[in-house]
Amino acid sequence: MKFKRQPDDILKKLGIYEPEDIDLDLVAYSLNADVKRSALFDCEGNIIGTDEKAIITINKDADPRRQRFSLGHELGHWVNDRGKNLTYRCDTDDMRQRSMSKDNFRQQKEVRANQFSAELMMPSHIFGRYLNDIDITADSVNYLANEFDTSRTSTAIRFVEVSSSPCMIVCWDKSGKRRWFSRNPIVPDYIWPHTSIMQPKNAFTLSNGIEVDADKWINNEGSEDFSVVESVFSNGYDILSLIWWKDESHLNQPN
Ligand SMILES: [Zn+2]
Repeated sequence: MKFKRQPDDILKKLGIYEPEDIDLDLVAYSLNADVKRSALFDCEGNIIGTDEKAIITINKDADPRRQRFSLGHELGHWVNDRGKNLTYRCDTDDMRQRSMSKDNFRQQKEVRANQFSAELMMPSHIFGRYLNDIDITADSVNYLANEFDTSRTSTAIRFVEVSSSPCMIVCWDKSGKRRWFSRNPIVPDYIWPHTSIMQPKNAFTLSNGIEVDADKWINNEGSEDFSVVESVFSNGYDILSLIWWKDESHLNQPN
């Protein structure tokens, strides 16, 4: 995704090379943005800015990791959308926005701010180092979320994006309907997860790195002949299944 300034570059300029040094208040300060924390009722974060200076307010009652994500999101607006009169009020829907709609400008900016926030908290020059020789499992997501102080959902999405092994993350509502998914570039784009899961209660048993038939999650014909390594976990609202083709020869062929 194109940013006006890359999160990696901003952090490197500040000499940040370790996850515990990713202090978003410091990043904001270096970018001439003041950060306040107050009770907000209709949004998670907002920003008011001119060409030179911005004030960001974050909802002080939100979970600390949510607050961090919100600050990264508002910094995304500051870096990418600044102009004469910059004003954004962003709610949880904006901060969950992942799909680009061609004609919806505002939505595109929200998606970009979310991606910016994820890359600022989990920059490739640091995050990539942590992915060497790590299994793609729920335990690894927990480990990375603790190291980077990020939510399990955004950690899992970033994990899939940056990993050099074939994997996919799928988010389902509790009734078994697919909400969204993301595959990494190694997984061919003809491989799709099901649009819904028939017996969600059974399928959504929590797991960590177990081998299952691929057709439990994958819709493609012939997927019953292959296996994947699954981890199933909850983010408090939805169910996430992290799918890893540990044996890459099990990425089945197009028909
Ligand atoms: Zn926003």
